[in-house]
Formats: sequence, structure tokens, C-alpha cells
Amino acid sequence: MTTILEWLGTATFRLTIGDTVIFLDAYMDRVPSAPPVGLRSAGVTRADYILVGHSHFDHLAGAEVIAQNTGARTIGSNESCRVMRERGVPPEQLLASQGGERHHLGDGVTVRVFPSLHACTWIMTDSGCGDEDHGHTGLTQDERAAVPGGLVQRITDLALGGTEDGHVILEHIQSSAGSLSDGGPLVYLIETPEASLFYQDTSGCWTGVLAGPAVPTDAAPIYAHSRGIHDVWLVGEQHE
Ligand SMILES: [Zn+2]
Repeated sequence: MTTILEWLGTATFRLTIGDTVIFLDAYMDRVPSAPPVGLRSAGVTRADYILVGHSHFDHLAGAEVIAQNTGARTIGSNESCRVMRERGVPPEQLLASQGGERHHLGDGVTVRVFPSLHACTWIMTDSGCGDEDHGHTGLTQDERAAVPGGLVQRITDLALGGTEDGHVILEHIQSSAGSLSDGGPLVYLIETPEASLFYQDTSGCWTGVLAGPAVPTDAAPIYAHSRGIHDVWLVGEQHE
């Protein structure tokens, strides 16, 4: 069974296992200042499943287009599925999951879903620490929520301040399918007769789940994390 893994920018991959085509996230329709990834959601002609890691637009957007054009079924959180429904994806194509589920994807291919956490480094801190800036690691969730600012507020400020990039990015966020809530991130263990792949699209980690025996230690990890999210769009660097 041939397996092909293609990176399509941000945390999006196309995974082809034999005859089964699986998208891991679906965000390819980026802002004009970001480098094109060689494929747009409207250009996808074949997909069987879309596994969505969490509900933010830079992971979820595009899934509604692929689902409607190809009939692909989407596995994601209730929030991701809500957004998909509101964007016109038929409910029978949506497999809402919270973690603990196992879905059949294709001949001999299944995926197990685990609950996870969002990265805590996406909140803008402007600490000037560069690579040593670890965001809000160590804070409790309520402490993180109390920190003023955050991505959308930062971009809104840029737009209100008359920054052209701010306007473009704000309009992009507002028009893209997604939620201000992460929806409860999910991670996926894709199991085939020959190997297992572990996919995670944001760097939070719930060790109480992932340190257990359910995830084999020889599973090939596919991690993708968007840390400097504004740098990607304003500077035009790709992030992984
Ligand atoms: Zn996110």
C-alpha cells in the first residue's frame, strides 16, 4: 500500500493511503501576502475525509469547500462541525468527535481521536524574547483568558490604526470559515496495516491522555504548529 504525505502550508497536509485521500486540516486559501502552496481548496477534486485539528480559521477554512465539492466527510469537534453546517455542508458528511472515537477511513485504515489542548504561545506578548518567548506557558486557563489582547484584538488594532495589512488580514479572518473558539483541539492516530501516523496541528499537549499506552511509541509523528502567526502573513514566511 503506497502512502504519500504532502505538506500544503501551515498545518495542512494531504495524506494519500492507497486509494484513500485524507486532508489533515484544510487551510490553503491564505492571504495574498502569504506564499501560495500550489493548491487551493476549490482545486481539490478528490477527497474522502478531512480531519480537522481545531476550529480556528487557519486550520478549518477550506474544509467546507472541499467537503461540498468532493463529498468528503469531515471529522472534527462539535464547534468545527457547527461552522461547517453553517457554511452549507450537509450534516451527513459531518462526524463530530470529542476524543475516544475510532473512525473507519478506508481499506484497513482507521483513525483514533484523542482530546488535546491548544498551544499557549499564539497569544501575542511582544516580550521581545524572540525564540525564547514561551507565551503563557505555566498559566492556568483562566489566567490566560484574563490576558488582554490576543490575535484577533491585535489584528483589529492594526486595521483600526489604518494599517493596510491589518485591513487585509482582518477581512480574511472575517470571511474565512472558522471560529474564535479553538473548539477543543483534537489529535489523530491514523492506523494502517503497515504503520501508524500521529497528527497534531497545535502544540498543546494533554499528557494525561497521550502519555498512556493508546498511542504507540513507533507512530510517525506529524506535528505542525503556527507559532508566529502574524509573521507568516506580514512577512510572508511559511510556518509549520
Ligand atoms: Zn489555533
